Amino acid sequence: MFSALTVFVFSFLYHGLGITLGYHRLLSHRSYRVPRWLEYLVVSGGYLSFEGSPIFWVTTHRLHHKYSDKPGDPHSPIDGWWHSFLGWMLSPLVVYDAKESMRLCPDLYKDPVYRFLHCNHTRWHALLCLVLCVLFRVVILLTLGPLALAANLLGAAMPFLGALMVNSFGHMSSLGYQNFKTGENSRNIWWVAMLSLGEGWHNNHHAIPSSARHGMFVHEPDLSWWMLRLMEAVGLASDIRVPDPARIDAWMSSGFEKSAGDNSDEYLEETGDLVSSSDR
Ligand SMILES: [Zn+2]
Ligand SMILES: [Zn+2]
Repeated sequence: MFSALTVFVFSFLYHGLGITLGYHRLLSHRSYRVPRWLEYLVVSGGYLSFEGSPIFWVTTHRLHHKYSDKPGDPHSPIDGWWHSFLGWMLSPLVVYDAKESMRLCPDLYKDPVYRFLHCNHTRWHALLCLVLCVLFRVVILLTLGPLALAANLLGAAMPFLGALMVNSFGHMSSLGYQNFKTGENSRNIWWVAMLSLGEGWHNNHHAIPSSARHGMFVHEPDLSWWMLRLMEAVGLASDIRVPDPARIDAWMSSGFEKSAGDNSDEYLEETGDLVSSSDR
């Protein structure tokens, strides 16, 4: 018999890591590798926390890296805080077609499961996600009871909120700090990092998007990174991409600075890496 606390902790990790290690660090940036069955398991945690289809999420996120805080960024506070928090989903300012999505996510379109969940680039993908999320909760209710259902909903809502906070507070220049001059407004904010399992070290992430580690220093705890190291220790994760510590020190002392065009250049460079690494 599961206690509500156990269900909450399990749900927080399952859904939270599904977003951070699944949707973000694995699918969007290919910053490490896992066996395909484990990829689906991790990604399911994100899907079942109302995040929408993986192709929708990754397309949106790659656009965010390409146009950070510039026209074309799907969720930047330059269009208002509410827009960057939730408004971008309700009434998007950046609308992309299937052709653009395929260009941005060629690796995900190769996968029949992700293509199915994306519903041929229609809004049905959101409805399918909603239906499967509700069915998942019905199973919890029928097998574990109403208290467990409430614990699961809370465990899913917290990292969901954390992801929204990364998009909004994580790009407000009045908050947190920057380790790197990345040419946009990305910030490191400790309280966002706590709720988002380490994603709140967002300036570090924008500086080195392909790094599986976002908290770069001892004072920047990154729960997702620790879990990934655990997966590596038991032989479930490999090819983990992290910057050389000596390069970080050099960047810090030399005042690492990206020029205006560097975001898109790095994005394209990453896409090249992704395509070759997805041929497993
Ligand atoms: Zn960002
Ligand atoms: Zn990212």
